[in-house]
Amino acid sequence: MRRSPDELAKMRKAGRVVAEIHEATRAAIRPGVTTAQLNEVAAAVLEKRQARSNFLGYHGFPAVICTSPNDMIVHGIPGDVVLVEGDIISVDCGAIVEGYHGDAAYTAGVGEISAQARRLIEVTERSLWAGIDQLVVGNRLHEVGRAVQRVAEAAGYGVVREYVGHAIGTEMHESPQVPNYWPGTSGPTLKSGMVFAVEPMVNVGSYDTYALEDGWSVMTADGSLSAHFEHTIAVTDDGPEVFTVL
Ligand code: MG
Ligand code: MG
Repeated sequence: MRRSPDELAKMRKAGRVVAEIHEATRAAIRPGVTTAQLNEVAAAVLEKRQARSNFLGYHGFPAVICTSPNDMIVHGIPGDVVLVEGDIISVDCGAIVEGYHGDAAYTAGVGEISAQARRLIEVTERSLWAGIDQLVVGNRLHEVGRAVQRVAEAAGYGVVREYVGHAIGTEMHESPQVPNYWPGTSGPTLKSGMVFAVEPMVNVGSYDTYALEDGWSVMTADGSLSAHFEHTIAVTDDGPEVFTVL
């Protein structure tokens, strides 16, 4: 779907709130902090900006952010998990402003982290930007996944298959999906006004996953570390415009 300039302006606002949540939660990440405390930091930003959460209540999800440490890939529920030096933590969050959605994620280290963890985070973020670079008018959507996959696999990592990016607008998850790998077809042609959430999930080991009994938390099957980066981006005549940045 193509969004009007007025709709894009609202999505820009939602994106800025999400970026503020990123900034505030990043600043709060340190050894000894619980993931529930990060959720409180995010909730305070939403309240300050009078934005609604698109995570809280989503299929019954009980928090405004997802917090996924170490070998957890995505969808972790904030709680009494205490972050310790050397952990990595993925934070995914969103906001609704005037009926329009923003959605973005990052992975950060807790204190000093291993060289392997730093490299995973660096490569995953770089794979996201390689995907974003493909969001240009006239290109085909699945070039995004091809670019993400190229960066991640060149580093020897696995790109998660079961969970993918998505179009976004008046709902958080709209069609079409945005795979982070080449799915065998080139996908729709990109037009200005289309908006997507691109979100590579990259594992040090294989891309296989399993879900915990809480029905949410998604883990790497082999116990390897996983990172997740996401932005909400519009296709414009001037190239990709990333909404979830300050
Ligand atoms: Mg997200
Ligand atoms: Mg998303």
